[in-house]
Amino acid sequence: MNSINAKPPIIWLNVWVFAITFAIAAIGVPVYAYVYGIDSSLWWAMIGTACFAGISITAGYHRLWSHKAYKAHPIVRFLFAIGGAVALQNSVLHWASDHRVHHTHVDDNDKDPYSAKRGFWYSHIGWMLREYQASRYSDYNNVKDLQDDPIVMWQHKHYLLLTLLTNFGWPLLFGWLVGDILGGLLVVGVLRLVLNHHTTFFINSLAHIWGSQPYTDKNTARDNGVLAFLTFGEGYHNYHHIFSADYRNGIRWYQFDPTKWLIRGLSYIGLTRDLKRTSGYQIERAKLTMQLTRVSRKAKSAPQVLIDSAHEHYQQMATCLREYYQTRKKLLDAKAKQLKEQVHFEGLQERIDELKENLEEQQRHWQSLLSEIKRYA
Ligand SMILES: [Zn+2]
Ligand SMILES: [Zn+2]
Repeated sequence: MNSINAKPPIIWLNVWVFAITFAIAAIGVPVYAYVYGIDSSLWWAMIGTACFAGISITAGYHRLWSHKAYKAHPIVRFLFAIGGAVALQNSVLHWASDHRVHHTHVDDNDKDPYSAKRGFWYSHIGWMLREYQASRYSDYNNVKDLQDDPIVMWQHKHYLLLTLLTNFGWPLLFGWLVGDILGGLLVVGVLRLVLNHHTTFFINSLAHIWGSQPYTDKNTARDNGVLAFLTFGEGYHNYHHIFSADYRNGIRWYQFDPTKWLIRGLSYIGLTRDLKRTSGYQIERAKLTMQLTRVSRKAKSAPQVLIDSAHEHYQQMATCLREYYQTRKKLLDAKAKQLKEQVHFEGLQERIDELKENLEEQQRHWQSLLSEIKRYA
């Protein structure tokens, strides 16, 4: 580099890997399928392998190792480490280190490794095509905790070998089993890899560009149900950036988050534990704060008395919300401890019903206040 503004050197290995695999997936696979046909079992193997690799990234690399949102049995960690090699997204140690920097310095064009403020292309794939990270490539200071995990260190040490074995060996084995080795390599190997790559990359690019911001607009992260569908539930990225220690991304029952379902499901058979959740109070309060901020910002000409009334009501609702969630927790704790003192229980349940009714009433008032203010926008 001669001048300060010169771009860092290109990483040709990455460029070729991304370009060749993409070209094969986009041109080679359709041509091969048209000319020779592809056995349906290879398509199923591709879907199964893509899900295994994808969920190893979301449940393992992301929520387990980067955010420590829960703890997992060594068998589960081992499987995620293998799945991460199948996904070809670098070792757990490296991925988690990058990801922690992303959260700490989100949108900082100099520090966030895949800052969305540098545009779609950069945050999607461009950040991996040049030596942007050269100065901190082997700096693993922010993942010292992960260095105590023997499975993480074993995978880091043998990453290249594991990647080659899984990305060539597995598709070859499948192709051999169905009598179509080249078809196996093309579909289970290359097409599957490209799908795994780009769906994960969407979380860094589209999930910071396209969608809503119900919890915070202090960073570019967005909630997006379509992306959640493509990314095993990681599309609720606005929620994730504000409550990143939570093992869930889609917190409502109707939100598509198979990563959460897997982690929760495994906890019933003792393979995961200590699942971290943000309290309902914190979640609802963040939402109210965002609504108030947004409306006050938009409706600059709204009468002060209306704004004051909204602020006052916000405080009231926050107090009521806190009591509601605290009482609910008390009831759940009591139930969990099997303290079957009927009177005590009934008292709590009545209080919860009362608080809920009160909250609903306040919610209606809040919505009408907000729409009244919005008229001045
Ligand atoms: Zn992000
Ligand atoms: Zn994250």
